[in-house]
Amino acid sequence: MKSVYFFGNKKADGNADMKNLLGGKGANLAEMTNLGIAVPAGFTITTEVCTYYYQNAQSFPQDLDKQVKLSIKKVEQAMRKKFGDKKDPLLLSVRSGARMSMPGMMETVLNIGLTSKTIPGIIAKTDNSRFVYDAYRRLIMMYADVVMEKSAGIEPQEGHGIRHQLEKILNLYKKEKKYKSDIDLSGEDWKIITEKFKLRIKKVLGGEFPDDPYEQLWGGIKAVFQSWNGKRAISYRRIENIPGEWGTAVNVQAMVFGNTGDLSATGVAFTRNPATGSNQFYGEWLKNAQGEDVVAGIRTPQPLNEATKTTASIHLESLESFLPDIYLELNTIRKNLEQHYRDMQDIEFTIEEGKLWMLQTRTGKRTGGAAITIAVDMVNEKLISKEEGIMRVSPNQIDELLHPRLDIKEEKSAEVVAKGLPAGPGGGVGQVVFTPDDAEAWAKEGKKVILVREETSPEDVHGMHAAEAILTAKGGMTSHAALVARGWGKCCIVGCADLNINYDNKEITIKNTLIKEGDWVSMNGSKGVVYLGQVTLQPADPESNNAYRELMSWADNIRILKVRTNADSPEDSKQAIAFGAEGIGLCRTEHMFFDPKRIMGMRKMILAESEHERRSAVMELLPYQRKDFIGILNTMAGKPVTIRLLDPPLHEFIQLNDIQVKDLANELNVTEQKIRDRIASLHEFNPMLGHRGCRLGIAYPEITEMQARAIFEATADLIGKGINVMPEVMVPLVGTNTEFENQEVIIRNIADTVMKEKKISFHYIIGTMIELPRACLTADEIAEHAEFFSFGTNDLTQTTYGFSRDDIGGFLPGYLEQNIFSKDPFQSLDKAGVGKLISMAVTKGRSVRKNLKIGICGEHGGDPASVEFCHQNGLDYVSCSPFRVPIARFAAAQAAIKYRD
Ligand code: PEP
Ligand code: MG
Repeated sequence: MKSVYFFGNKKADGNADMKNLLGGKGANLAEMTNLGIAVPAGFTITTEVCTYYYQNAQSFPQDLDKQVKLSIKKVEQAMRKKFGDKKDPLLLSVRSGARMSMPGMMETVLNIGLTSKTIPGIIAKTDNSRFVYDAYRRLIMMYADVVMEKSAGIEPQEGHGIRHQLEKILNLYKKEKKYKSDIDLSGEDWKIITEKFKLRIKKVLGGEFPDDPYEQLWGGIKAVFQSWNGKRAISYRRIENIPGEWGTAVNVQAMVFGNTGDLSATGVAFTRNPATGSNQFYGEWLKNAQGEDVVAGIRTPQPLNEATKTTASIHLESLESFLPDIYLELNTIRKNLEQHYRDMQDIEFTIEEGKLWMLQTRTGKRTGGAAITIAVDMVNEKLISKEEGIMRVSPNQIDELLHPRLDIKEEKSAEVVAKGLPAGPGGGVGQVVFTPDDAEAWAKEGKKVILVREETSPEDVHGMHAAEAILTAKGGMTSHAALVARGWGKCCIVGCADLNINYDNKEITIKNTLIKEGDWVSMNGSKGVVYLGQVTLQPADPESNNAYRELMSWADNIRILKVRTNADSPEDSKQAIAFGAEGIGLCRTEHMFFDPKRIMGMRKMILAESEHERRSAVMELLPYQRKDFIGILNTMAGKPVTIRLLDPPLHEFIQLNDIQVKDLANELNVTEQKIRDRIASLHEFNPMLGHRGCRLGIAYPEITEMQARAIFEATADLIGKGINVMPEVMVPLVGTNTEFENQEVIIRNIADTVMKEKKISFHYIIGTMIELPRACLTADEIAEHAEFFSFGTNDLTQTTYGFSRDDIGGFLPGYLEQNIFSKDPFQSLDKAGVGKLISMAVTKGRSVRKNLKIGICGEHGGDPASVEFCHQNGLDYVSCSPFRVPIARFAAAQAAIKYRD
């Protein structure tokens, strides 16, 4: 088995297509090497070795040692240095690299190979003992933390880990010597520090820091594999849906140094702006520094070029002005990489004594807005096709654009408390918390929280995920907080230097302002401004974004599925049309009765004891219904409108308090006791499986008659005015063809009557919800009469699983935690079970009625994975809430591209 893939000297064993085996980082290092770009030589140990490691009691394949040694030889040749050499030793880095990038989730050890034997040689060669001992103390720190502590399974309390302890030693030393920053420490100082570090490590962890280069190397390699199953990696994988079986690769690479002097530097950059998507080279760099200094937020990074300077960074020197030749070289690489990968790249580079080295390239994370702009620009630049452009944007990124922002007027008068870098756009409003655990706990209680941290680390991700927005005192646009927040489309402000955070008292002081835990703040993540108090969040306005409109027009041309909306009022219908809805797929008529005036009529109808009483109650509702239907049908003129007959969860309408009982008794002129007795007699043990849906219209045909009349009178009225309306009457909760046929007769009779009364003819169709397993099993019988099907996947999921839709909250979290379910089946369609019933119903239905119109109107209609399923199964349309319409349109286009013949 080939376990090790070499790269160096412009030739690599691997390439970018081998991400599964080499991980994203390793595959791209190989690809860049093959492109002739200067990459420090190295090798990648495959993800298969990781799998082997976990399948074989955490041991390595037999000949791995041999393969590693052989590759080190090749690295030595490429870099013209020897590992462990006394005079000019090669130093190595060990880094993780999974198939998908998991920012900061796993481990890195740098400067491997520094030992008591090699140190004097490097000092002699560089004539810079300060640099060498600084590198040595970094190695000791990382190694102790990653290899000797974490990988050994030691879990100290927060703030007591070996890294913190070593940092404390360093800070104390600086204080004693009155040094302000790390730059003030001499080589001798760093040497003393390394001795202190080693003593502490021995005292705390019990072992010696290894002085053998190979022992260091194998310790590092093992720790990376070990970190794949570390707590934070597992938690990140769960959030991002990354399977545990994938494993990580390990990249071992020759070290190059950005901190050897003023002609050295390090930086990170994006080939286009990751926040806005504009076609500008965008990044940060630091003179005389190592890569971790840029992302750790310890020093304020400088802008890469003049064009991207902001008011906050105007005084800082750009790489473009400091090292113009190197900047040009880097800019050429930027262009080459974009041409080659045909996507925006996130790159890392180091300049060592005036020589530029590329350390990483990967597809750059971006905000939703940036993803759309970049995709549309790249199509227009003819770099990618329209289909590729559509596939580049995820439906969630479209969703991000639909996210709220702070109300502009209120924002103007809100009190600004701090400013920072705009790392994640949009608005965020919430109560301040200071720890990720608190963020998670408060969010579980339904609170909206803003997570405030000095800077975030991978240990914080669960809290970041739970928070509305993230605010950090340190860090740049490429810091951990910024990357993670942007990936999730979360509002985020970083580098907010005015924040003085006191974790012990759980408070922040900003000049004269004190913010305590639980206080409300509002954030504008697009501008980087923090306000005191609660500013209203405004819904997003995607239509004002040209790139969005262009992308959506391409999507609309490509998709086959139609997209309708679930709406019960003219206002919602208008909103849905603005979002591109092509009709109404579900108008829930019972929702029209929650109004206080109407609910009385509804209650009278439900509690009526005789047909006569019921008829009179029902007729009170007729004018309201007719008016509603006129409003909705008129708004949707020219588009189909599916109106569902009453499907009221009775218990929701007759849970009455004393005052309501009294009012109803007065209205009906009966005693309060009588009302209570009637409510008691209607009590159901399982209302969701009780007297609802068409069962109601069958028991009380006058209800169906009234609704059909309201629909058809509204239709006749509008048709008479020359307005083209297209009503579709839908019967709910049908389980047998006889139920459907019973209701159909009533509806058709009323339609004929209204046509005669109004002396006008109009077109309408009658169909049914398919939301019970029996309806799927007998769909052919039902389709003999029904002219359309609409899958009610809320009830179909409920009845297929036998889970109450209202009570699943009691056990679902446990199911998700234990991986019994990977998703909530009420959110994303259960393709294996519920999906099978749907497929069967589609086939059976169309076997008797070839052109049977079929849609879906359960919550799943707005879920991208479920939309894809609907496309695959030949549905005609999906229907979802107005705000999900753009996502459904886009997901439908992606499905059409994915399953093109
Ligand atoms: C359904 O069951 O999927 C549906 C759309 O109907 P409701 O949610 O109103 O029961
Ligand atoms: Mg239903």
